[in-house]
Amino acid sequence: MMYITKKMIEIRNLLQKVGQSSTVTLPSIVVIGSQSSGKSSVLEAIVGHEFLPKGSNMITRRPIELTLVNDPEARTDYGEFPDLGLSKVTDFSLIQKTLTELNQSVPESLCVTDDPIRLTIHSPRIPDLSLIDLPGYIQVAGENQPRELKRKISELCDKYIRGPNIILAISAADTDLANSTALQASRRVDPRGERTIGVITKMDLVEPEKGAAILTDRQYPLRLGYVGVISKLPSQTGLFRRETGNLLAGISRNEKSFFNTYPSQFGPDSGVNTGTITLRKKLMQVLEQTMSSRLQETTESIQRELEETTYQFKVQYNEQPMSAEAYLAASLDDFKHQFHAFTSSFGRAQLQGLLKDALDQKVLDQLAARYWNRPIEDLTVALPEPDNIADLPKADPKSPYWHRQLDTACSGLTRLGVGRLAATVAATAVQSNIDKLLDKSSFSKHPAARRVISEAASTVLADRSYATSDGIEISLKPYKFDPDIQPNEWAQGREHVVGVLQGELNQCQAAMKSLENSVGGRKKLREVMTFVDKARRGDIIVEGDHPSGAGGFSAALLARGREAVFLRDRANIINMRIAASKSRQCKTLENKYYCPEVFLDAVATKLAQTAVLFLNVEMLNDFYQRFPREVESKLHEHMAGGGLERFAREDPKVRRHLDLIHRKELLELVLTKIEDLHRLPGAAGGRELAD
Ligand code: GDP
Repeated sequence: MMYITKKMIEIRNLLQKVGQSSTVTLPSIVVIGSQSSGKSSVLEAIVGHEFLPKGSNMITRRPIELTLVNDPEARTDYGEFPDLGLSKVTDFSLIQKTLTELNQSVPESLCVTDDPIRLTIHSPRIPDLSLIDLPGYIQVAGENQPRELKRKISELCDKYIRGPNIILAISAADTDLANSTALQASRRVDPRGERTIGVITKMDLVEPEKGAAILTDRQYPLRLGYVGVISKLPSQTGLFRRETGNLLAGISRNEKSFFNTYPSQFGPDSGVNTGTITLRKKLMQVLEQTMSSRLQETTESIQRELEETTYQFKVQYNEQPMSAEAYLAASLDDFKHQFHAFTSSFGRAQLQGLLKDALDQKVLDQLAARYWNRPIEDLTVALPEPDNIADLPKADPKSPYWHRQLDTACSGLTRLGVGRLAATVAATAVQSNIDKLLDKSSFSKHPAARRVISEAASTVLADRSYATSDGIEISLKPYKFDPDIQPNEWAQGREHVVGVLQGELNQCQAAMKSLENSVGGRKKLREVMTFVDKARRGDIIVEGDHPSGAGGFSAALLARGREAVFLRDRANIINMRIAASKSRQCKTLENKYYCPEVFLDAVATKLAQTAVLFLNVEMLNDFYQRFPREVESKLHEHMAGGGLERFAREDPKVRRHLDLIHRKELLELVLTKIEDLHRLPGAAGGRELAD
């Protein structure tokens, strides 16, 4: 019998998922009454459980949208708060606590809010009903209550008591009906009393004659009539209260024994309606009828909304389908495509270039430590011609000193841990390329997923790092004792090292330029440098690093001056070594003691070439194979448990697209459901659709 209500409640739940903009409203029963009229007691009797917030100071601050679901399958009664993700709460005192907390979360300054608390109760013993409990009307604001509380409650109630909602107007039998705020409010919006059910509580508190007179009142006629109830058990501490779920049975027994005592006032021939069971039946009937009569109108508004959504889908997205899965698959495909392009552009040659660059720096370090740190006079010579051998510093090939110098520099290079250096250089380069690819991909809009992919790269790279660096060290062992440079390698080294030295020279010059700028020009820097030179030669005595400086220069300026002198000397040496390397003398391998720069460069190239063979197979190729699989598996983990939907919705464009499709699908579903209802015999408008 309650089929339409049940289905319409399902439809309403679906429509709620459609989102804020849905214009379709389905009727509910809104419960209004003054404070202490017995409103909560009536609702609890209908549900059969105590669950509403209680307490002398407790003012309901938010509407409670209460959906009752008749669930023959439910083993025990339970409640659900869909907005909190709280499901299957079987302890009704916990429901009461949750409602109290949600209610108290509204700041007092706000008085009340129209943001409803949604609560669904499932039980095999309750009918399908949709009720809205509103804050009780207050007569006079209490001492600590803001003045506008009364007005705000009234405004909130007005919003809900509009059609097509049914009004359940609660008034207590022991107060004058003429003063019933609930009936006054109902009359304002439903003057002909067509959608108001009157409930008279506390029938036990008045004489039976008076009670019966209220129920047959002609002064405030309501088409749906009045029902008299006693929603309080004789003893609050009695057995009934503790028997959970049996509250209604107790109340109903109590009501029967009271009303049966006065057959002439309340008996079958009296023409009055009494008892919570009767009220519940009435609510079911009225809601079912209202839902049924709204069927056509609701269908039309759903059709309109679906048409609008379909139109938007066409104009905005050209009816292009979209799902979170498809979006992830497309993003991943695109990224893999980019990754593939990278793998074919980054191989042995690129790795070798990077490793050689790193080793060039190490060569410069060795040169600076073993050769260029000599007193400048030792190495400085006039170089009218780059090829003037006689003017080059004397590095007698027979001198054991120069032999030792070159041997130490060379083994400093071969034993610096090239394996670790190579593995680090490769891992850093690959990682930074992956991060760049990610920045250009659609994953850049998804920080969490981006991190997962980037970390997958680090994991795979780190995994091979130790084995690779050990392997490289082993493969480089022969060079540690005898680098064995060939003439063609010497020639290449000579050409290359000049470029490296030139690069270093440029850096010195750039650093000098920035020093000049920082002290306010070349002239100023020269003055300080002259002072520093003199002090170094001993022409001027400067005692220690005086914090306030010396010679009229501040300590900071002197520090810059010293730096500039160092750079100048370094540039002079490099200039000279460039000339030396270019000289005819450095053309042949035999003169290696004169040309440590060329020799070390050739050794570094050999190291890089050998290391890269290993690096390419053990690290790079391994990474290229394993990384895509690692990404898939890590993303899979990341997307589990709702992660996929969250991921897709992080992109606002995708979110809007998904929302529209979701909305369209839901509306289509709702429409088929509601059209099915039209085919039911007895449904208003059924015939038109069935034809
Ligand atoms: P609300 O403020 O409108 O929600 O009112 P309550 O349901 O909290 O009831 C206010 C007081 O009236 C409570 O102490 C109830 O126990 C009591 N009460 C409610 N219904 C009845 C009833 O039918 N008879 C009697 N005697 N007391 C009732």
